[in-house]
Formats: sequence, structure tokens, C-alpha cells
Amino acid sequence: MKQKFDIGIIGAGLSGLTLANSLLNKKINNFILLEKNRTLENDKTYSFWSGPGLLDIKKKLNIKIKKEWSQLEIKVKGESHIIDLGDYRYACYESKSVIKELYKRLVTKGIKVERGCLIKQIKKINDEWEINLNNKKILLKNIADSRPNIKFDDKYPSLKQVFIGSEVVSNTKIFNENIVTLMDFFESEKNIIFTYILPFSKTRALVETTFFSRKINFKEVDRLHKKNLKKFNIKEILKTEKAVLPMSPYSEARADNQYFRIGNFGGASRPASGYAFTRIALWANQIDVKNQFSYEMINHKKKYLTNWLDKIFLSVLRSNPKEAPKIFRIFFTKVPIASVIRFLSDQARLIDYLAIILKLPKIIMLKGLLNLYVK
Ligand SMILES: Cc1cc2nc3c(=O)[nH]c(=O)nc-3n(C[C@H](O)[C@H](O)[C@H](O)COP(=O)(O)OP(=O)(O)OC[C@H]3O[C@@H](n4cnc5c(N)ncnc54)[C@H](O)[C@@H]3O)c2cc1C
Repeated sequence: MKQKFDIGIIGAGLSGLTLANSLLNKKINNFILLEKNRTLENDKTYSFWSGPGLLDIKKKLNIKIKKEWSQLEIKVKGESHIIDLGDYRYACYESKSVIKELYKRLVTKGIKVERGCLIKQIKKINDEWEINLNNKKILLKNIADSRPNIKFDDKYPSLKQVFIGSEVVSNTKIFNENIVTLMDFFESEKNIIFTYILPFSKTRALVETTFFSRKINFKEVDRLHKKNLKKFNIKEILKTEKAVLPMSPYSEARADNQYFRIGNFGGASRPASGYAFTRIALWANQIDVKNQFSYEMINHKKKYLTNWLDKIFLSVLRSNPKEAPKIFRIFFTKVPIASVIRFLSDQARLIDYLAIILKLPKIIMLKGLLNLYVK
């Protein structure tokens, strides 16, 4: 049995479902989604910023907040810096509720989502792509592939973000439920290591141990995470999530003729942070379908200044990880927080870039810039 579609979306995760919804908005419906998981997983806690001048993602996607905060903490060498977010908020969302909402419209429009298919081989036959599922062949004119890469790019100044997070219940009222700990740094010569805490109540929080590093060493992250959890007098671990995310300025959406990468490995992952939610939402908003599905439509339109600053940031982090806590402290405490948030959300204005360039330590940043050309 053969089935033909104009577009095959591999992976019904955040980018695949977002793209599917955008296609429906443009009245394109001859597509199929192919997903390996049989059920909807609740394996990620998504967080992003909201406030003046930012796309209202919550409203746009009609998603339900788990919790939001108006203050954050950066901790360097035990010294705590509390930052008031003003009109801005940092909020988190359960991946299952986000994915469920994105699914809703597909179902009402009769779009096919094939679940339980682990896609490994894709053949090119003439100018079509062919995928063999158990008892049928699927022929596709175009592919949008959101599967993760097996190999990560190691070209200078790329890094990887490796983290393990546990949603925990503590025996004591140990968390300040009003303040997100964005980065509580460990001292390290080789890597940038920090704890990230989303406090849901005084006794319950998501505690993550995060490495920005060149190598992927889950054993080391796991060892430190277990040690880290001991600080919180844990009664119960409710769930654990983990990831390796690319922090690379070199992602490319075009993989072959009529074959495109989407999601984390197709340009959605922000090089300097590994965050991708906002980029995916902005990308969906800009998708413009002319006559046919094309690279111009699927490509993330990069902002030159954002990308350039990200490259310099990464260059500084990779060549001088010891300096990272200081740089992040200056970034969050000296640059006006509205500029920081708009920059981190890919929606910076000229004034935000200027504020960042003026406030960051000049010599370290200049060295980072030079290293981009000599390394
Ligand atoms: C634990 C975690 C927490 C994160 N937290 C944040 C955050 O707080 N803020 C933020 O901005 N970003 C965050 N990110 C980064 C990013 O937003 C997410 O990774 C986001 O889900 C990226 O969307 P995607 O479509 O690329 O990947 P996914 O949403 O993972 O979708 C990929 C889909 O492909 C499927 N798949 C994989 N292999 C195959 C195969 N061989 N065949 C068929 N299907 C396959 C998967 O099952 C999955 O459904 C987080 C990532 C992780 C992993």
C-alpha cells in the first residue's frame, strides 16, 4: 500500500506540531506527521519570558501556565543577586499540556499523526522521499525533520548544554516560591556549571544541574546532580528530565533538495542559551507560504546582531569558562532587565544591543571577538 503527501513532518514534538498548525493556518493540509512515541510524554518543563514588546506566546498558543515569577536570582561565589523583572515575567509550562493544545486543531482538521514509528531510513527515489512503515510505503515531496542529531557540531565556538533536572518535594520549607534561581554557579576550571531552580511552592521545585561544555559527559552531570539534590533535604523525586541541547551558531535548515531540518537542530536552538521555545513560536508566526513549501519558508530568519553577539558570548564562554559567572552576573545585574529579556527572547531593539555592548566587560568581550577569527 502506498500513500502520497506533499509534506512529511518527522517528529510530532514542539517544532513539528507548531509547523503543522502554521500549515493549517495557510490552508495547507496535504501533510502527515510521523512520531516515534505512542503516547504524549510529559518529559519537559518549558520556560520563557513574557511582557511588553514580546510576542504573547501564551495567548497565541492558548496554553496554561504552571507557574510564573516576577523575580530572579543569580548567585556567584555564594553571593546572591535578586533582580526584579518589572513588567516582565518568567513562566513555565508542562510540555504535555503544550503538545496537547497543539494537537487539538490537527485532530479537528483530520490531519494524520502516525504514532509508534521510529524513522530510521529515508530513501530518495527520483524527486520524492520514501519511508517504509510496517505494511505501507509513504511517498513525500518534502520532508521537515525534527529528529535530534546523533553527532553535535564541535566547531569553535559551539558548546553543548547538558542537564538533568528533578522535580522534588522537600521535607522542609526550603524554597523561596517567589524567586526563580536562574543560575547558581559552581566553581569550575573547565566547564560552566550551575543549578537552576523553578520553585513551585516552599517545599516543591524543579532543580536542574546544568553544564555548558564542549564534551557530553552525562555521568559527571548525574554525579553532581545527585550531590546537588542532597542540599534540599529531599522527601520524594516526582519526575526527572534531561537533555543535551546544541549551543551552536552554525545550524542549517537545508539538508538536501526538498529536505529540511526543523527544531533544535534546524536553527531553533538559541546559540547562547540553548532555549528554543520562543524561537519556534516566532518562526511559526513568520512562516509565509507562497506557492510551495520551500527553504525560504522553513528557514529561521536570523537577526544579524543577535547572532553576532551570541557568537562572541559563546567564544568567551568556550575559551574562558572561569570568567562565565562574572559575565552572567554583569549581564543580568548591570544591563537593564527589559533589554536582557528582549535580547534573550530574540526580540531586541537597537537600544537593547547598545545597552548590552556598553555594559559588558570590554576586554573579555574583545578577546572573545578576536578568538572567533584566530581559533
Ligand atoms: C528537558 C528539556 C527542557 C527544555 N526546556 C526548555 C525551556 O525551558 N525553554 C526553552 O526555550 N527551551 C527548552 N528546551 C529546548 C527546546 O525548546 C525543546 O527541546 C523543544 O522541544 C524543541 O522542539 P523540537 O521539535 O526540536 O524537539 P521535540 O519537541 O523533542 O520534538 C522532536 C520529536 O521527534 C520525535 N522523534 C525523535 N526521533 C524520532 C524518530 N527516529 N522517528 C520519529 N520521531 C522521532 C520525538 O519523540 C519528539 O516528539 C528544553 C528541552 C528539553 C529536552
